[in-house]
Amino acid sequence: MFYEILFLASSKTGTIKLMKPRRKTMSQSVLQFEKNFIQQLIKHYEQYKVERNGNGILFAAKLPNISITVYHSNKVLFQGKDANLEASKWQQGKDEITSKKVTNAMNETLPKRLESLSVIGSDETGTGDYFGPITVAAVFVPSDKIELLTKLGVQDSKTLTDAKMVEMAPIIKKNCIYSLLVLPNEKYNTVQEKGWSQGKIKALLHNKALSHVLRKMNGQKPDYILIDQFATRDVYYRHIQNEKEIIRENVLFATKAEQLHVSVAAASIIARVAFVEKMDELGDKVGIELPKGAGSQVDETAAIIYKKFGETTLKNISKWHFANTNKVIKIARK
Ligand code: MG
Repeated sequence: MFYEILFLASSKTGTIKLMKPRRKTMSQSVLQFEKNFIQQLIKHYEQYKVERNGNGILFAAKLPNISITVYHSNKVLFQGKDANLEASKWQQGKDEITSKKVTNAMNETLPKRLESLSVIGSDETGTGDYFGPITVAAVFVPSDKIELLTKLGVQDSKTLTDAKMVEMAPIIKKNCIYSLLVLPNEKYNTVQEKGWSQGKIKALLHNKALSHVLRKMNGQKPDYILIDQFATRDVYYRHIQNEKEIIRENVLFATKAEQLHVSVAAASIIARVAFVEKMDELGDKVGIELPKGAGSQVDETAAIIYKKFGETTLKNISKWHFANTNKVIKIARK
């Protein structure tokens, strides 16, 4: 956060007064992009274009609370009150592109017969949904529990109905060591406004869930830890570099990991059920069933909530930086 703290010494009393923190109004962020991404960014700000001549400047734009400068070096400078927020939107796009590349080129070789080993798997849900939290789960499935879970029908949550998963989740929880983390919307919005990308948020939650499971295992070690991949290994560890505890030993990253070991499928089910339950709970609070995803039905529902309860209520149950918010406010003001 951008606070300046001023200490004033009073000579008469000899005490030190702590002045109220003063919020800095200026902030700035620099991001490095690839060339094709730069074109996209310039197109996005075309209507705010301003002429600025300077060394290496390719394009400049001025918005109410931000100025944007694009350099020939493919660096982009965001300046002004909303600079960090604006930069984080683009950072997120960058992360998504990185993870798409990962899908196309899976460069890590996986151990043989991974599916039959003792593995902690982790997965998340709720990242693409406007309403509701992000949930992350990690589950340890030792080799002698694999059959039990497979017979139960544990597989990727995307292939199962919510009702089926609600039935399965307690059985998985009863039989396996697990950790479940729910990041409420208020917290999500706070860290997002600080400039954290979804990639960073996910990495921190996965790392934390894995460390919880390892702690509960009391010194017992899994053969491997398998993370359903959303970023490259480098990016993942960069996101969590300042954490006290960083889980590194025998960590594997793979896309579609729920198909590689039942522990990831089990984690996807626990995360999904927690998400669905939280959505029900939030829906009960506002008296409207909350749709999943980020489509037009979400906009309509959000506009009703905005009109009825105001901005704060909507913000506290949504991922506020999503493009939906602007559409919702427009609909609500019609
Ligand atoms: Mg996943």
